[in-house]
Amino acid sequence: MDYSTAIEASLQRLHDEGRYRTFIDIERKQGHFPHAVWTRPDGSQKDITVWCGNDYLGMGQHPEVLAAMHQALDATGAGSGGTRNISGTTVWHKRLEAELADLHGKEAALVFTSAYVANDATLSTLRAIFPGLIIYSDALNHNSMIEGIRRGAGEKRIFRHNDVAHLRALLAKDDPAAPKLIAFESIYSMDGDFGPIAEICDLAEEFGALTYIDEVHAVGMYGPRGAGVAERDGQMHRIDIINGTLAKAYGVFGGYIAASAKMVDAVRSYAPGFIFTTSLPPAVAAGAAASVRFLKGEGGRALRDKHQTQARILKARLKAMGLPIIDHGTHIVPVHVGDPVHCKLISDMLLENHGIYVQPINYPTVPRGTERLRFTPSPVHGPDQIDRLVRAMDGLWSHCALNRAEAVA
Ligand SMILES: *Cc1c(COP(=O)(O)O)cnc(C)c1O
Repeated sequence: MDYSTAIEASLQRLHDEGRYRTFIDIERKQGHFPHAVWTRPDGSQKDITVWCGNDYLGMGQHPEVLAAMHQALDATGAGSGGTRNISGTTVWHKRLEAELADLHGKEAALVFTSAYVANDATLSTLRAIFPGLIIYSDALNHNSMIEGIRRGAGEKRIFRHNDVAHLRALLAKDDPAAPKLIAFESIYSMDGDFGPIAEICDLAEEFGALTYIDEVHAVGMYGPRGAGVAERDGQMHRIDIINGTLAKAYGVFGGYIAASAKMVDAVRSYAPGFIFTTSLPPAVAAGAAASVRFLKGEGGRALRDKHQTQARILKARLKAMGLPIIDHGTHIVPVHVGDPVHCKLISDMLLENHGIYVQPINYPTVPRGTERLRFTPSPVHGPDQIDRLVRAMDGLWSHCALNRAEAVA
């Protein structure tokens, strides 16, 4: 085997298909989000505004979060020094899990390296806990769920995105005695649309299925205490397992599930992705807990309101110029371009000429022909930053002779 040639061929395939990824090197400036410094490949630098980050509320620079991290770091050192089972469970991990269980009104929570790992490890482990489990999965579920669902014995059924009639038909076809689980998201991050939580919970009750929701793009941002869309809609108690991240709106790092004490105990005991890996650094756990705590309170409510207002302003202004916004009422603002070359070109010109950083979203992240720019306005984006973005988009849309259209929804 010529290994080197095989590597080159695999990379060339990506180049040929136009989906080889290049990363933009940035250094965010604490205290000045969304400002960052971009280092070009030649080493030269430029001040930019980040418009595609997932630190949706700017919590990554929040004084209470940073203070908690400094405190834990100075108190206990850098790493945890072990897996959760072997010397890696600390007071900071326990406090974080208690904070998360309380957030979701569940008996327990379990922290993982990331929400990706939490989804993958939990879903694959549920297959071992419930032999013959049939998992019903929304067609647009995140890759972390798809990977977890793929592994282990048992069937899977893919229902058309948000199509509860299709889900019902699939549930009705299967053995009523078989264990079942419906896996879906509360907000799908590429279109920014909501999942039909109440309807799915109704079906789960009717067919005796468990419910598993990924609230990664909602925790911190929706609901009176920031527990997500299920909290906002009064459905949280109907969900068996809630998955969330500590790395997006909470601005730190890590992921988790919240569920009954028994469920958490079983996943804790069986999931290789939880057991055989070093636990989070205590400072990270402390920062995440401080962020969750802060966003539960008044300060969190104010940030959530501001966040929604910013999203509404940006959508209204882009729509007013006739740009094709995909608007499903969430905080995510996708602008439809519909062509990978233009999408990349506009993104490059925004960055180089206007210091505006928005990553182009191309196939396979979204279907071909639906290439888009995905903006994530936040409370730290000021009025003049919004102004500059809107003016730049207006100019580039004309420059590239792209269609101005009514909103696509
Ligand atoms: C980002 C993302 C994840 C993974 O979260 P991390 O904590 O970054 O690993 C899971 N689900 C969805 C829908 C996501 O967008």
